[in-house]
Amino acid sequence: MKIIMLGAPGAGKGTQAKKISEKYQIPHISTGDIFRANIKEGTELGKQAKTYMDQGLLVPDELTVNLVIDRVEHDDCKNGYVLDGFPRTIPQAEALDKALSGLGEHLDYALNVDVPDENIVKRMAGRRACISCGATYHVVYAAPKTEGICDVCGSELVLRDDDKPETVTKRLGVYHEQTKPLIDYYAEEGILKTIDGTQNLEAVFDDIKRILGE
Ligand code: ADP
Ligand code: ADP
Ligand code: ZN
Repeated sequence: MKIIMLGAPGAGKGTQAKKISEKYQIPHISTGDIFRANIKEGTELGKQAKTYMDQGLLVPDELTVNLVIDRVEHDDCKNGYVLDGFPRTIPQAEALDKALSGLGEHLDYALNVDVPDENIVKRMAGRRACISCGATYHVVYAAPKTEGICDVCGSELVLRDDDKPETVTKRLGVYHEQTKPLIDYYAEEGILKTIDGTQNLEAVFDDIKRILGE
């Protein structure tokens, strides 16, 4: 099962992608996580990506597309994967389609987690991320067992720099301009499924399970 997640920053793509990955036993591939890991390791890619991410802008397609295409050709992707945060532009979607059809493959579902802008800023202000393993929490809706500490690895939780309200507003603008057109793109391909992302985490996942099959 090959799935992509669509939705505004903070809509809950990562949260649901993790659940999908666990239930359906397919890798969760998050471009945001890959870039953050590269920043932490101080790689050349990380240095380049950071200058864009800090401003709330997209990392250029040239730095993003090949990274993902190489990744989905790994052995662990044979039975499918859930892409989270990619594609984010029409050229990225076209490049992915082209690479997949070259392999005789195709995407099965584009899951659009729909959350209005008004809810996003509040969600992002409460998001906390682990500095070490990247696990994500919310101070109200998905609180860790101990405040400020990652359940998974025990490291410190922080507010991501790009989750500060000024940058969130910028990222929402970028989403509307560059990423939202993908909704029509995948509707035309006939694989778009829209889910009401304002429901609680479990209700959103129930809707997704109804689409993907138990
Ligand atoms: P969120 O989960 O809040 O939507 P991500 O972790 O997916 O955020 O992405 C964080 C940042 O990483 C983005 O704002 C962007 O700068 C960069 N990024 C992630 N994926 C892509 C992509 N497919 N194309 C370009 N930039 C990306
Ligand atoms: P995205 O990957 O789309 O940027 P996340 O999955 O990181 O979004 O979710 C953004 C924030 O909102 C996180 O703090 C997460 O815990 C919280 N969250 C995710 N889904 C829901 C939901 N259905 N209801 C309330 N909060 C949610
Ligand atoms: Zn952790």
